[in-house]
Amino acid sequence: MEKPNPTKRTRREFLQAFLAMPVTFVFAAWGRRTEAAPLALLSTPDCGDDDDVTPRQTEGPYFTPNSPERTSLLESGITGTKITVTGKVLTTDCKPVAHALVDFWHADDKGEYDNVGYKLRGHQFTDATGRYTLKTIVPGLYPGRTRHYHVKVQAPNQRILTTQLYFPDERRNNTDRIFNPVLLMEVKNVADGKTATFDFVLKIVK
Ligand code: FE
Repeated sequence: MEKPNPTKRTRREFLQAFLAMPVTFVFAAWGRRTEAAPLALLSTPDCGDDDDVTPRQTEGPYFTPNSPERTSLLESGITGTKITVTGKVLTTDCKPVAHALVDFWHADDKGEYDNVGYKLRGHQFTDATGRYTLKTIVPGLYPGRTRHYHVKVQAPNQRILTTQLYFPDERRNNTDRIFNPVLLMEVKNVADGKTATFDFVLKIVK
């Protein structure tokens, strides 16, 4: 059994602790560092800053090309907690990317990938507002990894971003060496399962 490591704190936890401080203390702390340091430097990565592109992560061993085009991976035989993942594909200057390819693949609720067919694999294209919607299940755990989705995102005529998305409050987030808190989705419980949101930010090369 893995034990949570209370001495390890994610960037998000630091941020939460920071935001919980009284405002006067926060500004006093900043004042000691440098007058000019903007508070926004600590904000969650988002579009609007060239350095805040969604980070790349390893593809892993289980990508299969030519997945079917679909927004729902739910089909007969798929069990587990249903989840709807939504978000946008944005440029670093916050513009929506229409017709971006978003290709998800992930393990089933027992932590197994379908490496023969296309179960829990599918690609789609963002709409005119850059939005994607994926209906699927919460993936199971498999040895050595925390809970995650794999995804490839590609704006038209741009380089493919291969990355992974993570779930908050997972014990293994503290021990998984690939995990990056910047790639945490915002997850909520709803009546028939969960919802999650994540916006991808791409650097567009003209
Ligand atoms: Fe994986």
